Amino acid sequence: MLAVGDTVVSSWDLAGRPYALVRESGTYRRALDGRFLRKREATADGPRVRERLTAAGGAPVVAAARDEATAALRALEAAGGAGEAVERLRAVVAMDEAALARDAARFLAVCGPVGILPPDQYLSLVVRITEGCSWDACTFCSLYEGMPFRVRTRREVARHVDALQAYFGASIALRRAVFLGDANALSLSPDRLLPLLDTVAEAFPRRPLYSFVDAWTGSRKAETQWRACRERGLRRVYVGLETGDPRLLERLGKPGAPEDAVRLVASLHDAGVAAGVIVLLGAAGADRAEAHVRGTADVLAAMRLGRDDIVYFSEYVSGAARRTGSANASATEMPGEAVASERRAIASAFLGAHGGEKPRLASYDLREFTY
Ligand code: SF4
Repeated sequence: MLAVGDTVVSSWDLAGRPYALVRESGTYRRALDGRFLRKREATADGPRVRERLTAAGGAPVVAAARDEATAALRALEAAGGAGEAVERLRAVVAMDEAALARDAARFLAVCGPVGILPPDQYLSLVVRITEGCSWDACTFCSLYEGMPFRVRTRREVARHVDALQAYFGASIALRRAVFLGDANALSLSPDRLLPLLDTVAEAFPRRPLYSFVDAWTGSRKAETQWRACRERGLRRVYVGLETGDPRLLERLGKPGAPEDAVRLVASLHDAGVAAGVIVLLGAAGADRAEAHVRGTADVLAAMRLGRDDIVYFSEYVSGAARRTGSANASATEMPGEAVASERRAIASAFLGAHGGEKPRLASYDLREFTY
C-alpha cells in the first residue's frame, strides 16, 4: 500500500496487481478480470457515483498509481534501500498495462466468470466446485441465467485448485478465506460434497470456507451433515431468505417457504456454523409491502441470530432481473428513500424483539460487486 499525501492511496497484491486506488475522483476497485468499479459518496459538489469501467477506462488511474510507485522506488533506490519494499514496488512497476491485460486473460482462463459474492467475501479466493445455479429461476435474478448448472468432479476441482495456486503465486496471501462457488454449491448431497471439500481443505488447510446454499435444499441437510462440513473448515453459509412473506416469495419465483430458512439456520447453528441471511428490499410492491416487513422481521427473529451472523439487505435492481421466462413481478425499482425506510422498518421490528448479542446488519449491493 502506498499513500501520497492525505487523499491518494494505492493498494496492490504481491504480484503487483492494483485492487484499490483511492483518488479525489473516487475509489477505483479493479477486478481480476481487468474491469473497474468507480465509487464516490455524494458530496456538496455532486451525487453519489457508482460506475463500471472497462480496463481501458481504468488505465489512466492505474498509470498514475504506477508513476507514484516508480517515483517511490527511485527514491528508495537512490537512498540505497533494499529489501521487501523495493521488491514489492518493482513488482508494481513491472505490471504495466500490457502485463495487466495478459494477467486478466489468464485469470479468466483459470477461474472463469464469478457471478456474485457477499460483500464480506470480496477478497476471498473463489474456488468453483459447481458452475451456475441449480435453480436459476428467481424472477429478480439473472446472475447465472443461461449457464447450465454443473457439479465439477473431484479431479476437476483438484486441477482448478492447482491452476489457482499457480495463477496467484505469493499474491494468494491477500486471500485469507475460500469462497466455494457458484450459487448453491452446498446443496450437493454429502457423498458428492464432502470429497470436494476435502480437496479444497487439503489445498488451503488454514483458510476458513464460506459458501451459498438455497433454503429449500439446505434445510433438508441434517445437523450432522453441516457438522461434517464444519470439520472441513466451513464457517459461514449465506442464504437468500429474500422475504418472510410466503406469497411474495412465491411471486419472486423461489420455491419452499420462509420457514425453510429458519430450519436451515437452526441446523447451521447447532453444527457451529454461522449464517449470512440476505433480505430483498424494494420488490414487494404496494400490496405486499406490509406483509413483507412484518413477515421478514418475524422470520429473522425466529432465527436467533447472534454475533457471528450477518443480515444483509439487498436492494432490488431491475437491471439484474431475469430476462427470460416468467414475467418479472417487480419491474420497477423503488426510490432510494423508500428502500431505506423499508430497511429501517424491518430492522427495528426485528431488533426490537431480539434479545442477547445482535447480528451485524449490512448492505449487499449487486452494483458494487467486484472480484
Ligand atoms: S437468487 Fe439465488 S437461487 Fe435464485 S436464481 Fe439467483 S442464484 Fe439462483
